[in-house]
Amino acid sequence: MRAGEIIDRCRTLAVLSEIPDGLLRTFLSPPMRQLHGLLREWMEAAGMRTAIDAAGNLRGLYPSSAETPRRLLIGSHVDTVPYAGAFDGVLGVLLAIALVDALGGRRLPFSIEVVAFSDEEGIRFGAPFLGSRALAGALDAALLGRRDADGISVEEAIRAFGLDPAALPEARLSRGVFAYIEFHIEQGPVLESLGLPLGVVTSIAGLSRLSVTFRGQANHAGTTPMHLRRDALAAAARWISLVDRYARATPRLAATVGALDVRPGAANIIPGEVRASLDVRHPDDAVRQRSTAVLLDDARRIAARCGVAAEWQSHVDLAATACDPWLVAALGRAVSAAGYPVHRMPSGAGHDAMILAWRIPAAMLFLRSPGGISHHPDETVHAADVEAALAAGAALLADLEQRQA
Ligand SMILES: [Zn+2]
Repeated sequence: MRAGEIIDRCRTLAVLSEIPDGLLRTFLSPPMRQLHGLLREWMEAAGMRTAIDAAGNLRGLYPSSAETPRRLLIGSHVDTVPYAGAFDGVLGVLLAIALVDALGGRRLPFSIEVVAFSDEEGIRFGAPFLGSRALAGALDAALLGRRDADGISVEEAIRAFGLDPAALPEARLSRGVFAYIEFHIEQGPVLESLGLPLGVVTSIAGLSRLSVTFRGQANHAGTTPMHLRRDALAAAARWISLVDRYARATPRLAATVGALDVRPGAANIIPGEVRASLDVRHPDDAVRQRSTAVLLDDARRIAARCGVAAEWQSHVDLAATACDPWLVAALGRAVSAAGYPVHRMPSGAGHDAMILAWRIPAAMLFLRSPGGISHHPDETVHAADVEAALAAGAALLADLEQRQA
């Protein structure tokens, strides 16, 4: 399978959306079922047996040459952010299928399992990595009880999709899995700026995600004098500009308020309540945690000055993750054997590899993101870079085969 066909498949899957005017595909939503149908066909055509686990991950197994528990996992996610591009996540799954397809039925001394994770972005339930957490045995009762905007819990969503939450333990990694590899677009401008097609990921930055709620008093916008208002949005706005200023002044810190829920949300009512998201990332966990604490303290201080209350809830607190040194070296050899320069780099974005790394050696290969654009419909990928990733992937399989034979 050539790069053009992989790209076409990504574009085909990008049509499967919950919204009419763009791509949105969340955990166990109706278009996810259509996507499973197509991916299953492609996996089976490449010689894999397919199944959907209790967390809605589609898993394709390509058997080994001899009876052995040794298994290599290759995967990425197939859920998306709202108004997403066609390649974030999905490309990694299609590259994995293409690598198996390229074996043409030839068996390796280990089996290969391709995983299409049901949730990485965390859009529907405000908690990311639901799919990979199931493999790590970390989809716990608190997560299963989380509810979406319609009040449906993760557990109920699993049942509604026709799956059985009681079978979640069976979704866990099998004992013989020796490594997890993920191909993913870089989602940033670094590789493009260096003129390189591929990047070997050495570490993944830690991540804090919270919601901060400002509570004031909703009231008539015409009759309430300015000095007697308790405007939750005015307080939130002051805090948000401070978040931006603080992050700019702190080296390598990325802090974002990306979503605001303003209530009641009418032009003639003073906002009584604002819920703001806060996303904080830094390669150093201590700096990330210290910065988050400072920003929350600022929220409380600014709120008090505006006569409103501020409180928060933490949704994600993930430590920075180092990729497995042996796998990083193997990926480096593979990229080099395929004839491409080896560039090692950290990932600023979170990925399923972070969760798998709790249990097994994990590493990632980035593909250049043209224009550095991702989480946007203009997200794309160069066909030549997809060819490079395929060649590196094939070289990696050959390297692992040699060392395991
Ligand atoms: Zn992604």
